[in-house]
Amino acid sequence: MSTSTSTDLLIVGSGPVGSAFARLISEQRPGTAITMIELGPQVSAPPGANVRNLPVDERDAARARSQGPQGAPSGDSARGLRVEGTVISPGGTYLASPGHQPGMPAAALSSCVGGMGVHWTCATPRPNDDERIDFIPSAELDAALDDAERLMRVTTLPENPYGSAIKTLLREHFGDTLPEGRRPDGLPMSALPQPDGSVRWGGADTILGDAPVDLRVETIARRLILDGDRVTGVEVEHLPSGEVATILAKVVVVAANAFQTPQLLWASGIRPDALGRYLTEHVLVYSVVALSDEVVARAGIDTPVRELVKDPTASTFGIPYTAGVHPYRTQVMHMADAPFPVDEAAVKVGSARFVAMGNGVRKFPRAEDRVVFSDTEVDGWGMPQLSIEYEVTERELSEVEAAMADLRAVAASIGAFVPGGEPRLMPAGTSLHYKGTVRMGDDGGEASVVDEHSRVWGFENLFLGGNGLIPTATVTNPTLTSVALAVRAAPVVVEQLNA
Ligand SMILES: Cc1cc2nc3c(=O)[nH]c(=O)nc-3n(C[C@H](O)[C@H](O)[C@H](O)COP(=O)(O)OP(=O)(O)OC[C@H]3O[C@@H](n4cnc5c(N)ncnc54)[C@H](O)[C@@H]3O)c2cc1C
Repeated sequence: MSTSTSTDLLIVGSGPVGSAFARLISEQRPGTAITMIELGPQVSAPPGANVRNLPVDERDAARARSQGPQGAPSGDSARGLRVEGTVISPGGTYLASPGHQPGMPAAALSSCVGGMGVHWTCATPRPNDDERIDFIPSAELDAALDDAERLMRVTTLPENPYGSAIKTLLREHFGDTLPEGRRPDGLPMSALPQPDGSVRWGGADTILGDAPVDLRVETIARRLILDGDRVTGVEVEHLPSGEVATILAKVVVVAANAFQTPQLLWASGIRPDALGRYLTEHVLVYSVVALSDEVVARAGIDTPVRELVKDPTASTFGIPYTAGVHPYRTQVMHMADAPFPVDEAAVKVGSARFVAMGNGVRKFPRAEDRVVFSDTEVDGWGMPQLSIEYEVTERELSEVEAAMADLRAVAASIGAFVPGGEPRLMPAGTSLHYKGTVRMGDDGGEASVVDEHSRVWGFENLFLGGNGLIPTATVTNPTLTSVALAVRAAPVVVEQLNA
């Protein structure tokens, strides 16, 4: 038998963006009854906490539990099984639609309380220049980014001597070719440095704070219930029991990632032309460098980095996107252990050890890069099967060439590539930053799904959240921007709650 309950605000998806909506509305309209539904299990405590804060065995178990109904192998369990030419997603994620994603073989999802926000790296830089959404007044976007940084506890990690040396060498390499404020610098991170030198990594819990939320786990939104230009509630199913229920709500926010948000709209009969289209990500070029003796000499110490810092990520640096000058975003992760075993007989590895270094390259939006949903087949969750049609074109590949050359030059200033660590183009989807599928626009819905306040065109009280809203070609990690878009939406959500 189906039960019916009611709430003020119903949020589908418990990731960073769903959590941001819950926090913002609880701050701006105290007393709002907020229900959040999440199809995955809770894998960390408090709900949505970053699993990188857990001891290794608990972390790996939490990752495995986030990997969806088919328990697809991940980078943790399957590393030893890796076969050349196969694509395995990182721990905590699973391939979005195996057999249906030929153009984007590495596209992946996380299905757990906190979404990808319990597995993420926490990099939260701001978008620059033409990455920004030009129809949002610049000062308003900046104010929203400020608030997003507050919610996400954005900071830069304290520097250690090796990190300072790496930064200095990178700055010397670029000289004054980069504008002020866009030089190599500490990467903004959602993180809480602890007095003992360790780091508590930010998660969806950091954003949610103590917002009072009725969180329903392992509960899937099957369909939005519509009445003209309003959504009146959501049909949900508790997966372990199979119990179906209706939750009536004054306002509904769907923040279920760039694949599953359009999937739920499709399943509900909301099918504007732009739904699922304009799929982008960051085309990713990746390398691993053994740091040179020069880094050790500049640091003025020779202590193994593992003894110097408590976290496996010793330092993080970014080189921001600058249109026309540095059209990629470089992320430099300094660590004691390389991401794969390194033959240390073949390359000199000193006390400063390694950096993993990548350039994100733009993918320009095209209507034909899209996620398509089936009316007849279903996925492992019983939702419309999704297929991904996507192509990296000559336009992007010419920037990839330049991005590789840039990585080679940067690497030479701090060390040498380890064997197998030379720059390579990663399979499409590796970035884990999927954008555009429910894009924001100021065109009345001609080539967009939501307006500039994240409201679905043609609906009064249906709002979307997540990277799928980002309409521009970007190389900057998207989560801060997506939280900022939720910040801009929140007052309009409050208006609807008060209507
Ligand atoms: C390893 C890794 C590293 C990353 N590093 C970074 C980084 O450094 N910087 C950065 O900006 N980004 C990073 N990301 C990406 C970042 O985690 C995402 O941008 C962010 O989590 C998006 O938040 P979201 O709330 O929109 O979606 P998600 O976090 O994907 O959450 C959506 C939630 O909705 C749930 N859901 C889906 N459909 C339904 C349904 N029908 N009913 C109920 N629930 C549903 C899902 O199960 C999921 O939990 C990384 C991701 C990974 C995996």
